[in-house]
Amino acid sequence: MASKGNRNAVTLACVDCKQRNYQTNKNKKNDPDRIELSKYCKFCHKHTTHKETK
Ligand SMILES: [Zn+2]
Repeated sequence: MASKGNRNAVTLACVDCKQRNYQTNKNKKNDPDRIELSKYCKFCHKHTTHKETK
């Protein structure tokens, strides 16, 4: 039963190399703005900030 909630699929892109490394879901209610997470980028070989992108 798929419900129309506030859950949206978002893509997280490395701010250094712009590669889209991760996909996740976010709750629009909890995160109305673009989210930022520190994650490992296999292209930069280090942890970088990953920002939500469209
Ligand atoms: Zn990167």
